[in-house]
Amino acid sequence: MSTIPVMIPWLGEEEALAAAEAVRSGWVAQGPRVAEFERAFAEHLGVPHAVAVSSCTTALHLALIGAGVGPGDEVVVPSFSFVATANAVTYVGAVPVFADVDVTTGNLTAATVEPLLTERTRAVIAVDQGGVPVDLDGLRALVEPRGATVVEDAACAAGSVHRGRPVGGTAALAAYSFHPRKLLTTGEGGMVTCQDGALAARLRRLREHGMSVSAADRHAAKDGAGRLETYDEIGFNYRMTDIQAAIGLVQLRKLPAMVARRRELAERYRELLAGTGGRLVADPAHGSTNYQSCWLLLPDTAPDRGAVLADLADAGVSARRGIMAAHLEAPYQGTARVPLPATELLTGRSLILPLYHALTERQQDRVVGAVRAALG
Ligand SMILES: *Cc1c(COP(=O)(O)O)cnc(C)c1O
Repeated sequence: MSTIPVMIPWLGEEEALAAAEAVRSGWVAQGPRVAEFERAFAEHLGVPHAVAVSSCTTALHLALIGAGVGPGDEVVVPSFSFVATANAVTYVGAVPVFADVDVTTGNLTAATVEPLLTERTRAVIAVDQGGVPVDLDGLRALVEPRGATVVEDAACAAGSVHRGRPVGGTAALAAYSFHPRKLLTTGEGGMVTCQDGALAARLRRLREHGMSVSAADRHAAKDGAGRLETYDEIGFNYRMTDIQAAIGLVQLRKLPAMVARRRELAERYRELLAGTGGRLVADPAHGSTNYQSCWLLLPDTAPDRGAVLADLADAGVSARRGIMAAHLEAPYQGTARVPLPATELLTGRSLILPLYHALTERQQDRVVGAVRAALG
């Protein structure tokens, strides 16, 4: 009996051929395929600008610089998120201020953020946790009149929908991840999107050492002398490669099918787990999730989460602990300014069920049987 993993990326021959084509072209660093992937991703979201980078972590770093966040500033973030959300704030010398989340969606709300706003609040990072769209409009209405920016951490949420539009489509700045644990993957990779042309131009320079003219543009230019680059601020090497972008272009075309299959399987989990007392994550009122993380909150009557995970492992089911809480990890321990009861409940009592494109109904039945047995 083989173990059922929690996630398998949906990659195939088409991605392999696209990567091989990039290699054979001789241009493997950031070049025409990255530019094409950026155009296609921007079009998918309905945003004017998309800037490809090396990961969502680097996308968040650039987004915070773009939002003008720096030393002495505070940025409100959910503790209930992958640690990169808080770390990006630390990278720019600002302080992450942890807000609690709504216990149903796992996301920040205006009500959880409001008590933490101070004169130093420069930004809020709104995470679409596990793919569930955050109520961006409510947060913007609270935060923007105070001169602060809402940056959307849409790492998990390519393919999710917020009020009829792809998640991130209306955000001033949004960051995406293409790590294999998310839906659309390029191995490693990320994207930062924005609405403003001057901001997009600055993000493009920042990802490439602060260069005024990109290496790809210099190479393409005929008038070599007139295109001499300058370095006007300190940038980074956060570039994506053309090999990754070639894979990303194929993956983007498959995204609707990925989301449709995941939603079908998640609904099947919901039916099969009815009556266990567990609560499976669901669509919020204002949109739909891609089920990047199909998490189950254990019922009060269930044993300790560690025991449930151990039982599942014995049954050949590789589930995972739920989403982490940054304020419980060493770098951020003791820094929370308010109690975070929903965060601590969700991080301690939820687990992530196997969900991937190729998961069969038979395998899913096996997972459900193991969960029911583990819950006792
Ligand atoms: C995965 C994830 C990240 C980090 O993405 P990388 O591409 O691995 O850097 C950031 N934020 C959230 C919410 C994530 O789930």
